[in-house]
Amino acid sequence: MNLKSRLNQNKKVLEEAADDFGHIIHELPHAVLQAQCTEDIRQVILLAQKENRQVAARGQGHSIYGQAQAPNGYVIDLRSLNKIYTIEGIELDLASVWVEAGVTWKELLDETLKHGLMPPVLTDYLSLSVGGTLSVGGIGARSFQYGTQTDNVLELEVVTGKGEVKVCSPKENQDLFNSCRAGLGQFGVIAKARIPLIKAPISLFWYHALYSDLGQFLADQIELTSTTPYRFDSVEGFAVPNSKIHLSSLIPGFSVAGTTQTELKGQEDIAFPEAGKWLFMLEATKSFDSRITSDETGPLEDLEELSILPQGGFVRKESLYNYLNRLEYQIKIAREAGLWQVPHPWLDVLLPHQQAQDFIQKALGELTLENIGNGVILIYALQASKLKTPFFNCTDSETPILFGVLRNAAPISQLQEMQAHNELLKERAVKIDACFYPNHIPGAQ
Ligand SMILES: Cc1cc2nc3c(=O)[nH]c(=O)nc-3n(C[C@H](O)[C@H](O)[C@H](O)COP(=O)(O)OP(=O)(O)OC[C@H]3O[C@@H](n4cnc5c(N)ncnc54)[C@H](O)[C@@H]3O)c2cc1C
Repeated sequence: MNLKSRLNQNKKVLEEAADDFGHIIHELPHAVLQAQCTEDIRQVILLAQKENRQVAARGQGHSIYGQAQAPNGYVIDLRSLNKIYTIEGIELDLASVWVEAGVTWKELLDETLKHGLMPPVLTDYLSLSVGGTLSVGGIGARSFQYGTQTDNVLELEVVTGKGEVKVCSPKENQDLFNSCRAGLGQFGVIAKARIPLIKAPISLFWYHALYSDLGQFLADQIELTSTTPYRFDSVEGFAVPNSKIHLSSLIPGFSVAGTTQTELKGQEDIAFPEAGKWLFMLEATKSFDSRITSDETGPLEDLEELSILPQGGFVRKESLYNYLNRLEYQIKIAREAGLWQVPHPWLDVLLPHQQAQDFIQKALGELTLENIGNGVILIYALQASKLKTPFFNCTDSETPILFGVLRNAAPISQLQEMQAHNELLKERAVKIDACFYPNHIPGAQ
């Protein structure tokens, strides 16, 4: 079959390619190619060149602002490029695996865990494609230790804009390697990637700790992510509404009445402060190479010396798998509540740590659970020394603070207001030399 006969112009397929998780931008392509192999990608790039049309690679389409769309051009749907090759180098303790770009991190994790291995950095949500996150960065709870996913890739097979198929790495075609990582698909289409693998722990203690003071929360995160040996192997943080009801949905096993699950060790009566709309939750893990067998749920002492609320610390033992898939439950709830299908005017900024507190404090003064449509506010520390990808645009600070306002435009009439507030935040962010994640969001720079 020649390429032209495989270009799909079915209305439904075109409409799907003109949408993404943001549900804000809708650009109809001329046609969609469901790529089956690298040669398909090469051919459609050459065709687009001949016809002077744009090309966009598309993994899982979880972009927010149409980044994987190609107005009147060709969208290369990579979901069928989903092969995971044989893991190499296990015996040498240098395990790695080639995967096609359409493989999701969840599929890769499921496969590598069979061998007791895992990628060093995983995004919080695992149903994103390898090609998609390698094109933007890929930040997760272990990024303070390992950097982004783009810092943790060994080789790429890329189809360039000229239609050449090239393998690139730090040693071979280095410029191409450096521009394709976090390159937003502008320098070539990633067809395959070789991902390094590390030994996966078997189980872990999973901590949640509540703060009322933003400054202390940030100071503790900075300390925990910069001081070695690390106390925790994953660290993230969120702003959470100052209410027991909301807390119960955020901390697994926590109930309003107290600790209902025997696995959970924590306190029954958190001293909720009267004032303040937002509290701050640190989420961290400490992993083990063997199964935790004792009845003890875990050492709350690990939270000692942190400036958390009295009785605001919780710990439970958990399997690695459940922890890594921790968003599944919340996503199910969001889907059921219709929040997955509405527009998502999300904004992620990387703030210099010196200005982070003022910026976040001011933003939170303007934000409520209602005006983010029951969304999520991320606040967590990265370490600049671990962020080495040339095109991963990061603010000039030792400890960049990721501040993400992940909004649901529900009801949809709120969309404009949310976008207007994002504009305000973007203006303020630019003034303090913050960066945006992904690198480019429309109107940001
Ligand atoms: C629910 C949700 C949770 C998220 N959680 C995280 C998180 O924890 N950490 C994090 O870092 N990010 C997170 N993100 C953001 C996410 O990493 C990006 O949106 C990512 O681009 C999505 O991957 P995708 O496969 O859907 O990519 P797509 O949206 O399909 O594509 C993203 C960009 O990459 C390009 N691209 C895609 N595939 C290729 C390829 N093979 N070669 C070249 N270019 C390509 C596209 O053209 C586009 O510019 C999340 C997003 C959502 C919606």
